[in-house]
Amino acid sequence: MVNAPVQRMSQLMAKTLRDDPADAEVLSHKLLVRAGYVRRTAAGIWTWLPLGKKVLANVERIVREEMDAIGGQEVLLPALLPREPYEATGRWDEYGPELFRLQDRKGGDYLLGPTHEEIFTLIVKDQASSYKDLPVILYQIQTKFRDEARPRAGILRGREFLMKDSYSFDLADEGLAESYALHRVAYQRIFQRLGLDYRICAATAGAMGGSKSEEFLAPAGAGEDTFADCPSCDFAANTEAIAYELKPVDAADVPASEEIPTPDTPTIETLAASLGVPASATLKNLLVKVDGEIVAIGVPGDREVDMGKVEAHFAPAAVELVTADDFTDRPDLVRGYVGPQGLEKVRYIADPRVAPGTSWITGANKEHTHAKNVVAGRDFEVDAYVDVVVVQEGDPCPNCGAGLKLDRAIEIGHIFQLGRKYADALKLDVLGQNGKPVRVTMGSYGVGVSRAVAALAEQTADEHGLCWPKEVAPADVHVVAAGKALQIELALDVSQKLAAAGVRVLVDDRAGVSPGVKFTDAELIGVPQILVAGRRSAEGVLELKDRRTGEREELTVDEAIARLTA
Ligand code: ATP
Ligand code: MG
Repeated sequence: MVNAPVQRMSQLMAKTLRDDPADAEVLSHKLLVRAGYVRRTAAGIWTWLPLGKKVLANVERIVREEMDAIGGQEVLLPALLPREPYEATGRWDEYGPELFRLQDRKGGDYLLGPTHEEIFTLIVKDQASSYKDLPVILYQIQTKFRDEARPRAGILRGREFLMKDSYSFDLADEGLAESYALHRVAYQRIFQRLGLDYRICAATAGAMGGSKSEEFLAPAGAGEDTFADCPSCDFAANTEAIAYELKPVDAADVPASEEIPTPDTPTIETLAASLGVPASATLKNLLVKVDGEIVAIGVPGDREVDMGKVEAHFAPAAVELVTADDFTDRPDLVRGYVGPQGLEKVRYIADPRVAPGTSWITGANKEHTHAKNVVAGRDFEVDAYVDVVVVQEGDPCPNCGAGLKLDRAIEIGHIFQLGRKYADALKLDVLGQNGKPVRVTMGSYGVGVSRAVAALAEQTADEHGLCWPKEVAPADVHVVAAGKALQIELALDVSQKLAAAGVRVLVDDRAGVSPGVKFTDAELIGVPQILVAGRRSAEGVLELKDRRTGEREELTVDEAIARLTA
């Protein structure tokens, strides 16, 4: 066995910083930079320094072991990819501005892979010919490129980042369900070993296409996703994926609709105040442009529209808000006074809360005028019901009706049953048992490897700095020489012995740095155990401190080695 090397702080290519980087908004960004794990190279583009690279490699190793355990075969695809396969599936265009596109010297189009469904599909098409070659799970741990609009959360949202992506190929739906279930278990093991607190949440499939999908969300204030958790049943879902059923009501008693003068009430607030009604009695009609076509979206006046849900509904079409210019040649659209009744040339989408039979106060399509007793299904038709409302704390659980609790979270993994979307586009068939070609069905599964490092930092850090779980920490023990030559000598000696026993050691052997600075750095760097050679070094006595609990204990060299190798 090769001894685990001793990493010496006196030689380490990393500087700790006392102050937070000026551009840092989230804790993981601040701490990973301050502790010398990463350095920013450009917006959303990061360099992993020695300690950071160790943590990243530990996460990779855990992911790899658990993927191998479910029979995944590791491959490595290129990151620089040709346009044609992405053209065939439509994603060359659909991916929009997030896709890094480039040309070679001959003018040929290429992209930097944001995700690799197309290329994996082609590999299986090339390598597998019969039902005997399936099922198969292929995976890679590789750099991905996405030109994110707001790469502001440090490692959490990079424009270049490390992902484990895997793909399953099966003959039938049951096989796909099995491959999906295997991944679900592998992901549970991965995140448990990483020491991440996470929830499995129902998710929308988004731009990836396909049907069933779940997200692994790590609760953290810095997260960009919101998930709803039911306090009384096991329901948990990304709020973007929550859709309520349509429940029509009886409108027999509602009088005929009539117009009411409402001067200067172009907003829900001014309207509700002037009529003395709650905003929830009014119908808000938001206008958007879907690939250039104006579409109206109706929601109760007291609720906000979730643009993520709207975009997911219309994907791959692009959705934009209307601007003043869009009204110039549209006399049928009276800004501030739009109502679905009599809107003929506009597609009308409504939230299920605007169910058939519900009655509303809404715009009368005339300046300074609204209409009351406007009933869905009686006075206006809805072209499609789509749940587009922002879910709020206390909304009823779709499963049991209890009030939902909302929390912020970081998406660390995502599993999809893709079905045949990519196999159809790229004509992936194998010969079936009866000699006839069978179209293959696929799953696609991702873990944010670099993001997991930042998510762990977010969840485990305390007021003193990072605080890694053992399996991912850059070392098992951080030995601190708190003093001069004598302490340095003892620290190096115990470090060598620990390394010989297989313990991963980081030793602070810097001369001329005060014990106070070394202690602060050790807390900031966050190795789980800190072993201090201090006042009693002449007697060969050290102090072992648990980074998380702060518990301390005095030990001889032999005792320390026994404790750290236990
Ligand atoms: P998000 O909603 O956060 O943009 P996504 O839905 O685009 O994520 P997927 O396409 O499912 O993500 O990618 C698989 C995994 O890769 C995600 O679960 C996440 O952990 C990670 N990931 C996605 N985008 C980034 C990024 N810009 N930086 C770091 N990790 C990312
Ligand atoms: Mg994304």
